[in-house]
Amino acid sequence: MNTVVQSDLLSGHEHTRTGLSQAALKQAFIDNLFYLQGRFPEVATPHDFYMAAAYTLRDRLLDRWVKTARSYKHSQARTVCYLSAEFLLGPHLVNNLINLGIMDTARAAGEELGLDLDAIVQEEEEPGLGNGGLGRLAACYLDSLATLEIPAIGYGIRYEFGIFDQTIENGWQVEHTDAWLRNGNPWEIYRPKLRFPVKFGGHTQQYDDDGHLRIRWIPDLVIEGRAYDTPILGYGVNNANLLRLWSAHATQSFNFQSFNTGDYYGAVRAKVEAETISKILYPNDEPEAGKELRLKQQYFFVSCSLQDMLRLQFNTTGSVEKFHEKYSVQLNDTHPAVAVAELMRLLIDDYKMTWDPAWEITRHTFGYTNHTLLPEALETWSVELFGRILPRPLEIVYEINRCFLDEVRMRFLGDESRVARMSIIDETQGRRVRMAHLATVGSFAVNGVAAMHSELVKSTILKDFHDLWPEKFHNVTNGVTPRRFIVAANPRLATLLTERLGSDAWVRDLSLLRSLEAHADDTGLHADWQAVKTAAKEDLSNWLGKHAGVTPDPASLFDVQAKRIHEYKRQHLNVLHIVTLYQRLKANPHLDLPPRTFIFGGKAAPGYFMAKLIIKLINSVAEVINRDPQINGTLRVAFMPDFSVKNGQRLYPAADLSEQISLAGKEASGTGNMKFSMNGALTIGTLDGANVEIREEVGDENFFLFGLTAEQAQRHQAQGYRPWEFRHESEELRSALDLIDSGLFSHGDKELFRPLTNSLIQYDPFMVLADYEHYVSRQSEVGHAWRDREHWNRMSILNVARMGKFSSDRSIRDYCEQIWKVQPAPADV
Ligand SMILES: *Cc1c(COP(=O)(O)O)cnc(C)c1O
Repeated sequence: MNTVVQSDLLSGHEHTRTGLSQAALKQAFIDNLFYLQGRFPEVATPHDFYMAAAYTLRDRLLDRWVKTARSYKHSQARTVCYLSAEFLLGPHLVNNLINLGIMDTARAAGEELGLDLDAIVQEEEEPGLGNGGLGRLAACYLDSLATLEIPAIGYGIRYEFGIFDQTIENGWQVEHTDAWLRNGNPWEIYRPKLRFPVKFGGHTQQYDDDGHLRIRWIPDLVIEGRAYDTPILGYGVNNANLLRLWSAHATQSFNFQSFNTGDYYGAVRAKVEAETISKILYPNDEPEAGKELRLKQQYFFVSCSLQDMLRLQFNTTGSVEKFHEKYSVQLNDTHPAVAVAELMRLLIDDYKMTWDPAWEITRHTFGYTNHTLLPEALETWSVELFGRILPRPLEIVYEINRCFLDEVRMRFLGDESRVARMSIIDETQGRRVRMAHLATVGSFAVNGVAAMHSELVKSTILKDFHDLWPEKFHNVTNGVTPRRFIVAANPRLATLLTERLGSDAWVRDLSLLRSLEAHADDTGLHADWQAVKTAAKEDLSNWLGKHAGVTPDPASLFDVQAKRIHEYKRQHLNVLHIVTLYQRLKANPHLDLPPRTFIFGGKAAPGYFMAKLIIKLINSVAEVINRDPQINGTLRVAFMPDFSVKNGQRLYPAADLSEQISLAGKEASGTGNMKFSMNGALTIGTLDGANVEIREEVGDENFFLFGLTAEQAQRHQAQGYRPWEFRHESEELRSALDLIDSGLFSHGDKELFRPLTNSLIQYDPFMVLADYEHYVSRQSEVGHAWRDREHWNRMSILNVARMGKFSSDRSIRDYCEQIWKVQPAPADV
């Protein structure tokens, strides 16, 4: 009633729930503040303002979402289902403002009310439902799928606690629980009618179903998955897709049984146990032990998602026989690979199909994206654990494997060692289920995430599978969304690009940036370009002053490495360079080095000792160098605490130099490399992951390449890597390592960093010392290049101009054409 009355007061009868005018937005905001938050402006907190703004946006998304659902239903289009255990979404508010095209209108509406939109935006707590690159990729893909008007659903887990918050205390990482839901989540909609049972444990038995022999799974626990939906709006289109996250709850029937036997406390305990399944996101790189819950999480969200799809298919067509024609289901790494067995189970046990037609559907449904070559990161589960938690899916895995190995035997007569290598069950180290093999056998397409990585997938970890099915293998190079990583993160750059290109069409088609090449020597552009970069560096400097205790000089070169802390990413190589420069300056105080600020950001897995020691080393080196009067600010080191999507958005626009220095062959793609380059940072990097393609695009002369190639690294490894020889041969390297061991950075404690220096000198599988000399000399060239600012700006402009390939829109187009075979279905207004 109220809104109808009010909307009549608005010019043009614009509705306060859907209108995009300044007047409609303002009225909606005030209404939401009052009716949803129960506040009026005089007493509202910043968080109340944020909630009111979020609800104002959500109404507008829902309007488009309903229309999108109608269009999709009408067009009968094929739907992409993106299964991912992680979605690292980042804050929603800014992106929704951008994608709706109402940033300026909303800002003006805020001003009318005396409110600063930027301050409201800062109130949002991001959903940290991912660890890093893999989860962020899933979020970029949701944005691009909606923007390209592809019918798609993202399926995942609504973790109550996302990735931990990080603080730095006494130089060490301290983890804090991420209670992101504590103040409510205005973006999601709970769907009480959408609930699916998921079985765990127990045993199976055969039964006769009217002459058909069938299997029944008698579980000892049934958990209910409940759906929470978040609308994901595309940029400049009306399509709003769905992110559906599952939350685990005890089933009512289960509680009820316990009540009947008088076991009230038992019922409550069961409820708590059930709910632990979606309680917490596991950090990467944690030891294997105690991961039973993780397997449960994987099966839980996969089973709910497949039941949801099958229900939709059955309700609309009356059967599930053409399931694979309606759905293309992408497995984001092996975390959802149990879907192969679960779809078979649902088709056979619940929909009463026989094996062969069920297998035809299954193997035409899934695509599998591999994300890692690191052997320690390849997922396996002990058969004992798998069978105890998922007895019926294990039987199905065995049967899939039996049929598959027969095919291998037929193709490669008498090659039993090949059969053992390819088996889904690894018999070499206890019996284990190899999830990458299950995913590969059960999928019609397998892809790596950068050209080099996809080649390595074919020639190393899945070589035998490539021999058998070469046509299954693809490459789709990762990308990132320019909406978040340019328009939202770097509005000044976005404005400059739009001005220079005469249109904002580049936001939808990043390849249009190439026309900047023609202006690469335009001195007017150079001045604007540098002003944009300097303003971003000032913002970051102020933020670091408040949150990291260091206020770097925006005129210095900002040299940034921000990503998960891991030995393969080699933050310690960066530190060795810093220590080397420090020693050079100490030995020769008049050395003419351009001032540099080294900025690090990243979380270490709570149980990864060496990664945590690297954080301590960075902070310890920072402490000494930053207060050394002899250095006088020439070198500064800062550690940005709590690297997240939100904090990353402060970092990418401010970087002059992007550190992408993993050992070649170890980083599957990287996406941080793309975000930095899109914002005008130059890269110092190895020939690894997507660095290879970035260098190809931007040109060798605009990229600081160093280090071993993947083949050289492999050869070193095969011939026996002897790092102490590198130490022996380089005076500077020796003294840098010795300085760390001397206790200078650890208040005299000579043992603190010994585990790290020992590993570097004695066995380091990531060959830091082998790449040290080349890295340091390339860094000197960076220093020289920085002095010629005209030339630097030119290189920076060319980097941005040539980044079109790395938009996630291009990645999604590749998936649609090569793998999913889906067409856009524009939503009607
Ligand atoms: C992009 C991103 C990453 C991935 O960085 P890489 O350098 O590719 O490892 C990790 N975490 C966050 C928060 C990101 O935004």
